[in-house]
Formats: sequence, structure tokens, C-alpha cells
Amino acid sequence: MKAEIITIGDELLNGQVVDTNSAWIAKRLGELHIPVMHITSISDKSDAIQEALRHAEARADVVIMTGGLGPTRDDISKATVAAYFGTTLVRDEAVLAHVEAIFHRKAGRVMPAMNKGQADVLANSTVLFNDVGTAPGMAVSRDGKFFAFLPGVPFEMKFLMENRVLPMLRDTYKSDTYIYNSYLLTVGIGESHLAQQIADIEDTFPDHITLAYLPRIGMVRLRFTGEGEDLEALTSAVEDLKDQVVKRVKDHVVSLDNRSFEEVLVHTCSAAGVTLATAESCTGGTISAQITAVPGASQMFQGAAVVYSNQAKMDVLGVSSDTLVQYGAVSEPTVREMAEGARRVFGTDYAIATSGIAGPDGGTETKPVGTVCIAVAGKSETRTQTFYFKNDRAINIERSVAAGLTMFWDMLK
Ligand code: ATP
Repeated sequence: MKAEIITIGDELLNGQVVDTNSAWIAKRLGELHIPVMHITSISDKSDAIQEALRHAEARADVVIMTGGLGPTRDDISKATVAAYFGTTLVRDEAVLAHVEAIFHRKAGRVMPAMNKGQADVLANSTVLFNDVGTAPGMAVSRDGKFFAFLPGVPFEMKFLMENRVLPMLRDTYKSDTYIYNSYLLTVGIGESHLAQQIADIEDTFPDHITLAYLPRIGMVRLRFTGEGEDLEALTSAVEDLKDQVVKRVKDHVVSLDNRSFEEVLVHTCSAAGVTLATAESCTGGTISAQITAVPGASQMFQGAAVVYSNQAKMDVLGVSSDTLVQYGAVSEPTVREMAEGARRVFGTDYAIATSGIAGPDGGTETKPVGTVCIAVAGKSETRTQTFYFKNDRAINIERSVAAGLTMFWDMLK
């Protein structure tokens, strides 16, 4: 069983809108064990629509198309799809009444004539009634293949997928095959080093179990995926391979599930009753923003001082002017005093401090762009480290955040 997604819209091709519909649909189909093999974005042109449908019908069993159903584009897309199936458009009276009611209710207005076309549906389709918008979806079956045509507006598409399409697919394409996913998050080890360290284990993976590397700055998530008919045997085979990997790289393992690094930190600290604050210069509050984006962060996060200038470092955190003059703002002695100052000011168990030259300007021979000093102050010690990132401003900041959180995690352990 294979699926294909086709999204229509010039705005998807010129970069104005990111195609989030496909990712969402692919995820939901994956939950039904219907893997998506192709995702295509096309313009709202008759030729492009016909060609995409032809390819999709030849290689997929389930085809989901979004976009191009609105009143302004109706004529081209729906008529093209009707021609593709050798059918006609017919007016659906229930949909027409619904579209008219929406106009009356929303604006007390008479519906513009062009909206009447929204009630036209493929004569050979099952209408997917759209409770949350004016454009109905349509489902068509041909030679055992299933097609769904949905509006492009994400919340309307989601409504129709959840309430109409997925239930239909669940009934029609029940599968005896299970897909079992298990996750592992590592920090502080690059993708290729990780791959090297576990290569011999990976070589023993049977064909029905695969390993995916999902790297992000400073961390790599591993996804173990198994496919088979006996869920218990599958689960045990996948978990056994995962255990071997965990044992091999245990110093880098942060979590055995699909949580983000920040979530793991928040949950771990909250469970242990440990509190944290940050003192941020080059990261400008990004560490604090990432921590506080996790629900429940208030259990462990006390506050952040964004201290960009030397004056702020002295006034807010008590960094000494001698330290700043002698070693500079980007130095391990300075971040040490920033972290210890933040611990004192916020009354926390730990504090992370960052100070660096994110770029593009401001570098010197001894402290080039990308030089970042980070400190983590704890109850019994303060650790400091200097990093030399060699990226642009945004990535240097992102790397600093990952490095700061990793140093914190190491001390926490
Ligand atoms: P309508 O014309 O009634 O708004 P439609 O079905 O014709 O609906 P589009 O015009 O293609 O859909 O898209 C409407 C809006 O929905 C777009 O402006 C865009 O913001 C969003 N959208 C469309 N397709 C996608 C997609 N694949 N991913 C994310 N957003 C999308």
C-alpha cells in the first residue's frame, strides 16, 4: 500500500508559502501504515494537474491532492480533474445551501455568484462535506485506487482528513502489517562519528528494521523502524538493537524517546527539584526562550539576564570591571562570573552563561568570529569552556545554545 500527495499552488513553488499540508498528511497516513512514496507540488495549470494525477495513479494506491478548490480557481482545477476521470461536474444542493448559509451568517451578505461554483462536485465522487469552510472535498475510487481532493487551507484540509478521509482509509485499507518506531536522542557527538561507532551493530540489522539519523545542531536523533506482522516480536527485535546502540554510546544518550533536548532537561530538573537560570550575552535570551517553550518549565526555570553590554554584565550580575578589562567580555573568567552571578541573583542551583562573537563582525586575531565562551555554575563547581564555531551569526548562536545545554546536561549527570 503506497500513497502519494500532490499539493497545488503557485505560492508553494515560489517560496511564499511552505508546504506544511504534505508533512501533516504524510504523518497521519504513516499512522495508518500507509507510507507516502512521493510528494509533488505543482502549479494550478491544467497540464500540470493531469500529469501529476497520471503519475500518481500509476504508482500509488492512495492519492491525496490539496489546493485549487477555492472559488477563484474552481474552474481550472475541478474541471481538469473531472476531465481526467472522464466525468462531469454536478451541483450539489446540500453543499450550495451550506455555502449560502455561511455567507449569510458571516456577513449578512448575498453570496457572490462565483461562490456557487464551490457547490459543483465531480459526478463520480463521494462529497466530503466541509463543516469549517465553503469548499467541499471529494473522494473518488477507480480500479481499487483511492483519490481525495481537499481544500488547500490547512485547517480545512485537516478537518476533512480527520473526519472524512482517514475514517474511510481506516475501513478500506486495514493492514496486517505493523510499523514500530523507537527513538533515541544523543548530544555532543556528530552524525558521522556516531555512525562510525555503531557501524558494526548497524550491519547486523535485518531487512525489516532500519535506522534513520535525524541530525540537528549539537544533537542527533536516531529512529529505529521495524515493519512486520507480529508486533511483539517486532518490538523486542527493535528494542534489542536499540539497547546495543545505547550501551555503545551511553555517555551521549539523553533520552530513549521522541522528546526534544529541552523537554528532557525540563522534565529531569523538575523531577529532581533542581532549578536553573541563564546569563546570556551572545545568545540574547535564546536558551531561556527554548527552555520556557516547554510546558512546565516554571517548575525549574527561575529567570534569565540578557546582559549584552559590559555595563549590564557588571550592574546586573556583579561581573568585576577588572575581569572585563584584563580578559575581555568574551573570556572564560567573564562567563564564570556571569554564571555565578546569575546563580546568586536568581537563587538557583545552576546557571548557564554565554558570551561570544556571533559575527559577522567583531572578530580579532586571537578571538575570531565564532569564538564563544560558556560557563555552567553548579553547587560545588563552575565549569567553563571556549568554543570556536565557524558559521554565520544565526548558526553560531544556535551552536552556542546547544553547547550550553549540553554542558549543563553533563554537569547535571
Ligand atoms: P481557497 O482558494 O478557497 O482559499 P484553495 O483550496 O483553492 O482554497 P489555495 O488557494 O490553494 O486553496 O490555498 C489557500 C491558502 O491555503 C493559501 O494561501 C495558503 O496559505 C494555504 N495553503 C495552500 N496549500 C498549502 C500547503 N500545501 N501547505 C500549507 N499551506 C497551504
